[in-house]
Amino acid sequence: MNGLFLAIDSTGFPSRWLSWQEAITQEVLGKVSYGFGDHEFTFTGGSNRDTGLPSKVTLKSILVLHGRTRGSYRNATISLSNEALFRRDRYMCAYCGSVDSRHSLTRDHIVPLSRGGKDQWLNVCACCPACNAKKGAKLLDELGWELLYLPYKPNHQEGLLLQNRRILGDQMELLKAMIPKHSRFTM
Ligand SMILES: [Zn+2]
Repeated sequence: MNGLFLAIDSTGFPSRWLSWQEAITQEVLGKVSYGFGDHEFTFTGGSNRDTGLPSKVTLKSILVLHGRTRGSYRNATISLSNEALFRRDRYMCAYCGSVDSRHSLTRDHIVPLSRGGKDQWLNVCACCPACNAKKGAKLLDELGWELLYLPYKPNHQEGLLLQNRRILGDQMELLKAMIPKHSRFTM
């Protein structure tokens, strides 16, 4: 089994991905309240120390854990990487609209770093090499350019979508229902 389990807290908030080892540990420690989803995975291990019977754990693809995710964790910012940025922007240059599937996109700082701009979600966009060369350290006003779409900060659920490339259908459905309407994340 290569996929991961999606952990949900008791309020229904999807908190994180669990490897199968972590999922079994949570189950064995009694931290799983219940599981649901379309997929079920059974793991057999060595024999149970008390009963002598082979130990067997069956887990659903979405696991509801006891307790509630802390507020600070819920609001944690997704770290800004080029991969995450390009997926947010659907691999499209924010200035000319060209879509780059060859991954030669660059991270453009809308207000350049040299002009006081910050390296953060609201000041960056995907940019093709040609536009990047033309833009240099200029401001959009100085070029008469406009953004084709607005930057935004991805939420926690979008971060979970980014972290796992083998998301199961039921997990995907749950996460997609929780990402904001303006999200441009490619699935
Ligand atoms: Zn461009």
